[in-house]
Amino acid sequence: MTDFQNLGLSGGLLKAVAENGYASPTPIQEKAIPLILKGHDLLGLAQTGTGKTAAFGLPLIDRLLADGKVAPKGGTRALILAPTRELVNQIAKNLISYLKSTQLRVTSVVGGVSINAQIKRLSRGTDILVATPGRLLDLVDRKAVDLGTASYLVLDEADQMLDLGFIHALRRISGLVRDERQTLLFSATMPKQIEDLAKSYLRNPERVEVAPTGRTADKVTQSVHFMDQKAKSDFLLQQLKANPDGMSLVFCRTKHGAERLMRRLSQKGLAAGSIHGNKSQNQRDRAIRDLREGKINVLVATDVAARGIDIPGVSHVYNFELPEVAEAYVHRIGRTARAGADGDAVALCAPEEIGLFRQIEKLIGVDIPVAGGEVPPLSAAAGRSKRGGQNRGGQNRGNKPAAKKPPRKRSTKNHNDNTPGARPQKQRRSGNRKSAA
Ligand code: AMP
Repeated sequence: MTDFQNLGLSGGLLKAVAENGYASPTPIQEKAIPLILKGHDLLGLAQTGTGKTAAFGLPLIDRLLADGKVAPKGGTRALILAPTRELVNQIAKNLISYLKSTQLRVTSVVGGVSINAQIKRLSRGTDILVATPGRLLDLVDRKAVDLGTASYLVLDEADQMLDLGFIHALRRISGLVRDERQTLLFSATMPKQIEDLAKSYLRNPERVEVAPTGRTADKVTQSVHFMDQKAKSDFLLQQLKANPDGMSLVFCRTKHGAERLMRRLSQKGLAAGSIHGNKSQNQRDRAIRDLREGKINVLVATDVAARGIDIPGVSHVYNFELPEVAEAYVHRIGRTARAGADGDAVALCAPEEIGLFRQIEKLIGVDIPVAGGEVPPLSAAAGRSKRGGQNRGGQNRGNKPAAKKPPRKRSTKNHNDNTPGARPQKQRRSGNRKSAA
């Protein structure tokens, strides 16, 4: 087995790796670290949970230490962009643990908190700036940060940044970073738009890839229960009550739906919290802390808020509503079975969601076992756009999967989502930075 010593990292970093309890590199680390240390631009196809933060963070720190420069006042030596506040905070937390014994400084800036404190911190200059694109541009416009000093640019979860409408922000920001730079782009998926982005931002990039479903997802036991939309909350309640020692994440499509469900669960005596775009940063941080500390054991979330969250011990992920974008399912279920543990991913599928369900199966290449309910025909999905999600189920009497036809093309009409991360591509907004970060 390869160990970290063979990857070319310096002694200080090897010590940090050991202190973090990393015994051997993950596949993405094994592939990416030597290339980044050699100065290559990199296109990395990997999801959260594969160890990709260390895959770019460790060699980045090593290179910053090696060039011996100091953080320029009002500027940064390296810039890392990530789509959500949670991911930015998590990246910063990991980096801080890797550079504890060095003089390097990490600064993170996200929306939803006071900008004045961030302006003050940035004036001192920093070695690594981790930011959401929206808040970063606010700071640029206020002349609080000079990106022209940055020699490293990392775009993390680039597909999610595009989904959130950050393309113009990314263009603007990358134009402000030095031309002579090393650029690393990570994405969980590689649609054409990301390929195009890579072509315009990366120079002769090396491409590294780890299995699309990720190591973590392999240990997840998946199942689906078919039922009407209105039966879902009672079913969920029963499941959660039957599993009082578990730690559950419940995914909803909209922030209002998530809040409503959290209230209902709390009224029924469960220790539940919620995390979505209508919550302040402090509330979001507190909900995650409460879950980690066991003050609550159910967290109801939307995709945008939950992306990238690393909470050890999540035993169950419930897809209370299926995501509009099939890839989001992979991210959701990747929140369980982390760090070698097992986990259960339970999907609750209403008849009108059957099209989305088949798309998920197609993406992951697995027939998800049916644990209950009647499999609706694919035609039930039509009710989704015509009737605003009203149920017309119960047409297929057998408890077996419907015949494998190619999934019906999703309608983008009457799409009631207000969670940016779950938006289908056609409805991507551009330039609306506020609702995302
Ligand atoms: P990431 O994909 O960067 O979000 O990392 C997922 C989790 O894996 C984090 O909790 C990391 O601390 C952890 N991790 C990263 N690299 C390793 C490694 N080589 N061995 C064990 N755990 C790791």
